[in-house]
Amino acid sequence: MNKQHQEVDSRRTFAIISHPDAGKTTITEQLLLFGGAIRQAGTVKAKKTGNFAKSDWMEIEKQRGISVTSSVMQFDYDDKRVNILDTPGHEDFSEDTYRTLMAVDSAVMVIDSAKGIEAQTKKLFQVCRMRGIPIFTFINKLDRDGREPLELLSELEEVLGIESYPMNWPIGMGKGLEGLYDVYNKRVELYRPAHYNSERFIPLNAEGDIPSDHPLQQNSVFPQALEDVELLVEAGNEFSKEKIAAGELTPVFFGSALTNFGVQTFLETFLQFAPKPSDHKTEEDQEISPYEEEFSGFIFKIQANMNPAHRDRIAFVRICSGTFERGMDVTLERTGKKFKLTNSTQFMADTRENVQEAVAGDIIGLYDTGNYQIGDTLYGGKLKVSYEKLPQFTPELFMKITAKNVMKQKSFHKGIQQLVQEGAIQLYKTYLTEEYIIGAVGQLQFEVFQHRMLNEYNTELIMTPMGSKIARWINPEDLDERMSSSRNILARDRFDQPLFLFENQFAMRWFADKYPDVELKSLL
Ligand code: GDP
Repeated sequence: MNKQHQEVDSRRTFAIISHPDAGKTTITEQLLLFGGAIRQAGTVKAKKTGNFAKSDWMEIEKQRGISVTSSVMQFDYDDKRVNILDTPGHEDFSEDTYRTLMAVDSAVMVIDSAKGIEAQTKKLFQVCRMRGIPIFTFINKLDRDGREPLELLSELEEVLGIESYPMNWPIGMGKGLEGLYDVYNKRVELYRPAHYNSERFIPLNAEGDIPSDHPLQQNSVFPQALEDVELLVEAGNEFSKEKIAAGELTPVFFGSALTNFGVQTFLETFLQFAPKPSDHKTEEDQEISPYEEEFSGFIFKIQANMNPAHRDRIAFVRICSGTFERGMDVTLERTGKKFKLTNSTQFMADTRENVQEAVAGDIIGLYDTGNYQIGDTLYGGKLKVSYEKLPQFTPELFMKITAKNVMKQKSFHKGIQQLVQEGAIQLYKTYLTEEYIIGAVGQLQFEVFQHRMLNEYNTELIMTPMGSKIARWINPEDLDERMSSSRNILARDRFDQPLFLFENQFAMRWFADKYPDVELKSLL
């Protein structure tokens, strides 16, 4: 096997998805600690809450050569090189969050054991499902009283429609948490080994039990866990590598990120099943192998710099084939323009940047002064590929916009056109009155848009929030302007396709009842 082959095979690139507060930051931090990418617990957390001076961050980044503040984190564990892509929640939620899932090979879904499946998890899950990538579940906060594990598993199946397989099972919960019955690794992992005067890991015997004289046997939560596991073995889903790979079955792990219980077991088991980079589809339905010698990749995210002193942005490239080298010649497929990739940054785990190579699965950041658009393909040599278009996501929040200064119409239009093309925001016009409406999946997208219009196009906007709406496209031949009512807004998108913005579910159902023959379509 050649070097590139080996390098590619060691890559594990995934995103962690969750609803805010389920524990994504806490887990990410534990993973980075195991990987040696950070030395102190609390660093990622501090970044999130802003309790960490910016200069300290830059110092850490310089020392470690890792960009912890960025949305890509890389570290080595065992013989694997792990890339974790952040999917921001809260107010940072945006189309970028969805698009990040286009750049990973698997996803880890973190669920709060007391809350079960929450809204944002569900949306992100659906994008993973659409891509057919493997999804791993970590049910967190076992140190607190949560819902019954069996109930959580059935919720996974019912709400998300995915089969589940528990890789381990809680022994007790909350104050009564004693450990995990590790079905997969055939051992019991104790939460408080000192309490039992025992080793942390107790191997299971042939009967799937621990020695009869182990003091844990005296605790009633243990037989209860055994009983649950037996039930699952008899009535639960079968373990299937193929189904995991196809995203049809999710391996479920329990644990407590805060007390660092079950996280390392999760990481080690996850890395055994998480897929290495695979082929990527082109617009022409070709599959490009990650082992292909020539470099290629696509831009899945453009991060604007919120600092007014810098207009630069970073374009994130998922490498699909070949080896990235600083200063290499590439072609931007959309324009056919050739240039050198000098101004780039790699999200490295340490400072030996020059010896490290970035291959398929890795993410590189390119400083962008307005050359790139989301979805752009870059390739080296004669490869000449164009990767599949990234899907558009149905926006949920809308604003009416106009330029504050009527004299600025020209830059207003130019700015909107460019930012829409770049993929920063979606644009609509009302049908008859031709008012501009922008749509986003998260509030922050509007703020970034407003900021960039001001800084890059010198245009101050008047933005009138319209709140959340349900956007549904219809076939142009079904369109009748009388369908428009006070409960919906008729508009067209930038490709001139008609759509309705419904006030709420009720308004949409009313419409569907009134016009049963009109098909209402959503994007993803
Ligand atoms: P995120 O919003 O998903 O990134 O969640 P965080 O990692 O910031 O966690 C949200 C809150 O839950 C914080 O107060 C954490 O300390 C807490 N938390 C995270 N994991 C656990 C856990 O395993 N047990 C308990 N009790 N709290 C946790």
